[in-house]
Amino acid sequence: MKILLTGGAGFVGSHLAESLLNDGHELTVVDNLITGSKENIKHLEDKAEFRFIEGSILDYKLMLKLVTECECIYHLAAAVGVKFVIDNPLDSLITNVRGTEIIFELAHIFHKKVFFASSSEVYGKDADVPFSEDDDRIMGSVSKSRWGYAFSKGFDEFLAIAYAQEKKLPIVIGRLFNICGPRQSHNYGMVIPRFVEQALKNQPITVYGDGQQIRSFTYIDNVVKAIKSLMDNPQAYGQIFNIGNSNFISIGEIAQKIKQLCHSNSEITYIPYSQVYGENFEDMFYRVPDTSKIEKLTGFNPSIDLDEMLKIIINYHRGS
Ligand code: UDP
Repeated sequence: MKILLTGGAGFVGSHLAESLLNDGHELTVVDNLITGSKENIKHLEDKAEFRFIEGSILDYKLMLKLVTECECIYHLAAAVGVKFVIDNPLDSLITNVRGTEIIFELAHIFHKKVFFASSSEVYGKDADVPFSEDDDRIMGSVSKSRWGYAFSKGFDEFLAIAYAQEKKLPIVIGRLFNICGPRQSHNYGMVIPRFVEQALKNQPITVYGDGQQIRSFTYIDNVVKAIKSLMDNPQAYGQIFNIGNSNFISIGEIAQKIKQLCHSNSEITYIPYSQVYGENFEDMFYRVPDTSKIEKLTGFNPSIDLDEMLKIIINYHRGS
């Protein structure tokens, strides 16, 4: 099948690209390389079925050409990482809203199937974990730019559902929870690659806030499998699915774990959020998915546990 993958030079996109090529598909990756990197896909460039195009989803003419050429679209291109979103609020909103609008509109006009990568950010600061797809969403103030990202992804979801209902667009939405694995950059705030780099260099491990905040991590291979199984299942169209792991851990505990697994001498330091993200920052305290919906439909099973994923990631950062 001829597939278009937006954001395919990013962490998640590059793993999905690899997997789609292994499945025998013909793949076009489009990425503006702002947070993605050619390094992530350099091992794919020699493959005959692979094509990389540096470009933006905001470029309507380019997207028109690429959408007409493909049979289905995995739409992953978006602003990425809390730090990036806080530093670049306008670009983040425009990419997430206008860019996604272009992709959905063209997919509708040319009748292409779409997987849309949304985010667990859309749950906002709900404290009632685990989060189910139909739960209420609790958003912070507009003066706190972090929530703009959650709003933009929420808007994209409304748009996707409206296209599915009114125009019968075959589109499925995956809400991605925290993912980790090789090639995830430490540049945009992502906690695991940051802690691993710090621990391996015996530098202070920087826990933000009091470290009590809760996250659940899913290994990239499990996420890629989930994304493909949703796209391949027509029963999933018009619906939203959490993609994540119901096991959770506090950030303070994960710092300890990474320190131990790296045999590191790093001290664990606690830094107020205001020092990192400015005064107007608000974190999500909880972020844990209820995954029963995707399990029931696709048999999804995040089989790789936290210790195993951390060992793989540590080896990757060690260069072995
Ligand atoms: N975090 C941290 N130290 C870091 C980077 C992140 O304590 O050096 C925290 C961050 O404040 C958040 C959690 O780790 O509470 C997960 O952060 P990440 O940016 O990876 O994902 P998200 O906040 O989007 O869940």
